[in-house]
Order: sequence, then structure tokens, then C-alpha cells
Amino acid sequence: MTDFATTKDMFILPEGMIYLDGNSLGPVPKAAADHVHQMMTDEWGQMLITGWNKAGWMGMPAALGDRIGKLIGAEPGSVVVGDTLSIKVYQAVASALELNPDRKVVLSDNGNFPTDLYMVDGLLRSLGDDYELRVVDPEQVTDALTDEIAVLMLTEVDYRTGRMHEMKTLTELAHSLGVVAVWDLAHSAGAIPVDLTICNADFAVGCTYKYLNGGPGAPAFVYVAPRLAERVRPALSGWLGHEDPFAFDLDYRPGAGIERMRVGTPPVIQMASLSVAMDVWDMADMADVRVKSIELTELFIQRVEATCPDLTLASPRDPLQRGSQVSFRFAEGYAAMQALIARGVIGDFRAPDIMRFGFTPLYIDETDVEQAVDILADIMRNRQWDRPEYKIRQRVT
Ligand SMILES: *Cc1c(COP(=O)(O)O)cnc(C)c1O
Repeated sequence: MTDFATTKDMFILPEGMIYLDGNSLGPVPKAAADHVHQMMTDEWGQMLITGWNKAGWMGMPAALGDRIGKLIGAEPGSVVVGDTLSIKVYQAVASALELNPDRKVVLSDNGNFPTDLYMVDGLLRSLGDDYELRVVDPEQVTDALTDEIAVLMLTEVDYRTGRMHEMKTLTELAHSLGVVAVWDLAHSAGAIPVDLTICNADFAVGCTYKYLNGGPGAPAFVYVAPRLAERVRPALSGWLGHEDPFAFDLDYRPGAGIERMRVGTPPVIQMASLSVAMDVWDMADMADVRVKSIELTELFIQRVEATCPDLTLASPRDPLQRGSQVSFRFAEGYAAMQALIARGVIGDFRAPDIMRFGFTPLYIDETDVEQAVDILADIMRNRQWDRPEYKIRQRVT
């Protein structure tokens, strides 16, 4: 059994704050600052360039990939970290398209996070006019999957509402039609149990600064199914994905397996903080996390609906169909969220009218949920959001 009191104690959680935004940026583990400091003084400071070998920096992308892989049902040696998620989406979809050279259509849905769509749009423009990004409603994905589609690219958990796609069923259907499946796990990794092996996914990508708590700007990850890894030809053919980077050959030859999905120099300081976050994950079992997450989201929904009649549930009511977040619609949602943040309850706002709350059992418990709802109910009852200062839009919402 995961001991959530212990995991909660492993994070810095500011006094007087209830943090329901771990789906956007996880909090910092207490051990991270010392570990990063030690990396900077003992490794970077004393070893300088020799740190790549002596401190094992060069092996960290694959080592961290394996640790993340345990949370998402990936075989050892099938996940590597690096770059940002936008880049990894591009890389995975480009590789997936090459596996299906006779087809020209990428299918996605309009619940996807916009950067995923933007990146594929840019990729397809560089490939030529005959390529198409087809975007349908999430409910229409099954009908739109045909043997015309080259690649199905979906985010498993909708960033706005938490609605989940059925990864296993859709991947099976995709494969039966000769479609390659790319899954974005941005709101899945560390939020819900994922088993890429059982789902038979082809590619998966995700980020490490949301539920995984790696820190702002921590590198993304990419998974390639072992059955495909040696066939993939990376479009982002950087030197560190080369078979022998330090041969400095003029010709690119892809590295072994997942190593070829590396591009350039990895972010060692960010990987140091990510490794501390993964130490916390070593103490957690995803099945326990899911049980607790459902308890927390059910409690939140029940209490908000009982006390805040102006808010409308935007997430699926069935907990099995939503991830680890809950969203409510409210026309003045931006202002209400600002009022909430002013009182120490941190969630976020997604246009046009979504108030979004993330539930992260590693450091959020029932008491936090109850207190957060009490404050929200007070704000709604007294129309505390109706003040000019809460209506000024900030750069990051
Ligand atoms: C958070 C998120 C991203 C962010 O991409 P970055 O390149 O890390 O900024 C991309 N896609 C999805 C689905 C996300 O939820």
C-alpha cells in the first residue's frame, strides 16, 4: 500500500496554500534543491566536462526513461527523455508517418491540446500539399478512423475536461485498419494507470513537469514500441541519436533502439531534479494512486455541487471516464479562479469558461479538498469574484 502521508511529507507545500494545479506544474520535492546543488557543485563544479562520463550524465535520458516507463507499462529500454513535449509530438508523428508511406492523413480531435495540432500542422506543411490533418469531435474519432488514415494522434486525457479516450480499444481498431497510433500521455503519466504494452501502442509521448513533478522545463519523454524501434527513422536526426556520436561521421546512422529518439545535449540540471521526483514515485503504486484520486475527485464534485449551484460540471460524471482532474464551467470562471487563488486555493482557468482543478494523491488529501470547497463556496455565495482586479487577464492563466 502506498503511504500517502509519507509522500505528502516529501514535497514543499507552502503554508496556507492548497495546491490543486499539479496537472500543470507539480510541486518541488524537498530533496530536489540539495540534490541539484550537489550536482552543480560536486559534478558540474568539480568534474566539468568529465561529468558526462564520470557522473553518468550521458546515460541519464535512458535511465530516467526506464523509471518513467514503470509508471506507464513500457518495457525497459523503450522510453527516453529529452526536449519538450511539443518536439516529441513532432518527432513521434513524423516517425509514425514514415511507417505508413502510402497514406497522407493524420487524424486527431478538437479536444487535443493545441500545440499537438500546431506541431503536426507544421510538420505536414513541410511534407507537402497532399498531406492533411483531420480534426474531428472526440466522440467521432471511431467513425473517422478509416483505412485512409496514416496516423491516429490523440491525447488520452482531455486537458480541459479530463475526459478519457479508450486507449486499448482505439489502438486495436487503428491497427485493424493499418493505422499507426501515437498517444500523448501529458495528463496520464502519474495521473492514471497506463499500460502501453497491453494497449499495444506504437508511440507515446508525455511531459514530466505536470503529475511527475520534475520541475518547470523538465524534459519530455517518448516511447517507441520495441517491435518498431529498429524500423523508425527519426526526422529530428540529431547527433546524440546517432549510432556513434563521437565518431563525428558526416552521415547519419540511427542509434540502437530508443536511443535514436534523442536529439541534442540533454538538460542535466533538469534531469537531476526529475530524478528526485522519480524517487518519490518509487514509493507509489499507480493502482493506489488511482483509487485515491477517484475518492478525491468524487468528494470534490459532490461538495461543489452541493454548495455552488452556479457551477456546472464539465468533466465526465463517471470516474472511470475521467483522468485525475475535475473541471467546472462558469461564465466568470477566470475571475472566480483569481479570487480563489487570492485565498490560497490554486487551480487554473482554460478558455472560454473552464475552472480546472487537479487532484494528486501524492500530496493532496481529503482535508485539502474539504477546505478548498469551503473557500470556493464562500467566494461564490458572496460574489467575491465580482471585483475589477480579478478580471484583468494575466499572461499565463
Ligand atoms: C502540457 C501539454 C503540452 C505542453 O507541451 P510543451 O512542449 O511541454 O510546452 C503538450 N501537449 C499536451 C497534450 C499537454 O497537455
